[in-house]
Amino acid sequence: MNQLDKIVALAKRRGFVYQSAEIYGGLNGVYDFGHLGTLLKNNIKDAWTQSILTTRSNILFFDGSLLGAHAMWEASGHTQNFSDPLVDCTNCKRRFRADDINLEEQCPVCGKKAWTDVREFQLMFKTNLGAATDSASIAYLRPETAQSIFVQFKNVMSTNRVKIPFGIAQIGKAFRNEITPKQFLFRMREFEQMELEWFCKPDQMDEFFPLWLEARKQFYINLGVHKDRIRMHEHGKNELSHYSSRTTDIEYEFPFGWKELEGVADRGNFDLTQHSKHSGKDLSVHDEKTKTSYIPNVIECSVGVDRLFLTLLCDAYTEDTVGSEERTVLKFSPRIAPIKAAFLPLTKKISDPMHKIYQDIAAKGIMVECDESGSIGKRYRRQDEIGTPLCFTYDFESEKDNSVTVRDRNTTQQKRIAIDRIEQYLADALIP
Ligand code: ATP
Repeated sequence: MNQLDKIVALAKRRGFVYQSAEIYGGLNGVYDFGHLGTLLKNNIKDAWTQSILTTRSNILFFDGSLLGAHAMWEASGHTQNFSDPLVDCTNCKRRFRADDINLEEQCPVCGKKAWTDVREFQLMFKTNLGAATDSASIAYLRPETAQSIFVQFKNVMSTNRVKIPFGIAQIGKAFRNEITPKQFLFRMREFEQMELEWFCKPDQMDEFFPLWLEARKQFYINLGVHKDRIRMHEHGKNELSHYSSRTTDIEYEFPFGWKELEGVADRGNFDLTQHSKHSGKDLSVHDEKTKTSYIPNVIECSVGVDRLFLTLLCDAYTEDTVGSEERTVLKFSPRIAPIKAAFLPLTKKISDPMHKIYQDIAAKGIMVECDESGSIGKRYRRQDEIGTPLCFTYDFESEKDNSVTVRDRNTTQQKRIAIDRIEQYLADALIP
């Protein structure tokens, strides 16, 4: 099994991620998140929100609709430009993204060279609102969260009485009818994005672009991602999206190679200008100093929640040997670990006092688990596989010495601590 297959298997085995509608054969490129997956996603989103807020204070939050008007996607250029090149093999009938393969060579599946012409495939999911099927009823599921921010820019600015520069941040679902969804959570058809749109004056771009790029890189390092698996990739002219004049990707070294994790793009004033033109509404702002109006520029930082989820799984996934036993461990940073600590009575006979300790800690709002079935070794292995940083074990001595054994996930070292020190111990250990 290769590394990615092992990660996919672990994610299912431990209840992080399931294939959507699995009992019906699954829906390609669409996933459901179980208990641990939901907790991990929430931790990722909280960490992102914190990092945005601590980079600059003037950030507003937004939650736009998933359905977007045809006119909006016309103006943004998505109906014309948001497509991927598609090619079919006429021999084996497989379909590929033309930029994923070399058309000078044979089909990687059947070995024949029998390509169709390359044609553009629209990635947006199209639907109709209401019973009508005329062009006025056409709507699209959004392929990025950003456009709803641009079209509401004036409303957000005036109702919150903010001044340029400021940011609007949004976490929400996006949908792309990817030709070949693949590599688990890397390329999905339904996914979640965390996007920040930073509005500033055109002459402030050289100040803010490097500031955001550095802040975004630092975010991953603070989450504990290996520094040597992160790099910057500046787009060449032929790689740039239709709206961008400068984009730098933050890339991660996945088991299947270096790939984009986050895009930091200079969108100029493309989007606000387009929406001004198409809607006929003036989206410029007034500069009190110069007494002139201008359309602000935008720096966009955009990362997928699910792609970061996969990054953190890949980055944390470790196989090592403890004594003579091999184990798999997710070395998550305590900050994003779904479960912060597990409470394990050595046997079921002494589970009552352990339960009481567990409930006291759980009541403080810390995400902890109490697990009392199976051998202690098996329970440690399970907690290692789900990335729980600490395990506290209550044994037959505990009642006499008012202490428990605490085991560290990474080192597997154990030590004895007093029961009344557990809360402080946990608080210290959870500081990133
Ligand atoms: P790619 O080149 O990988 O197709 P993109 O350049 O089209 O990505 P953007 O439009 O810049 O991607 O999207 C911003 C972010 O959203 C990406 O960096 C990625 O983290 C996430 N993302 C985009 N498409 C998907 C997808 N199909 N599945 C999961 N996450 C995605």
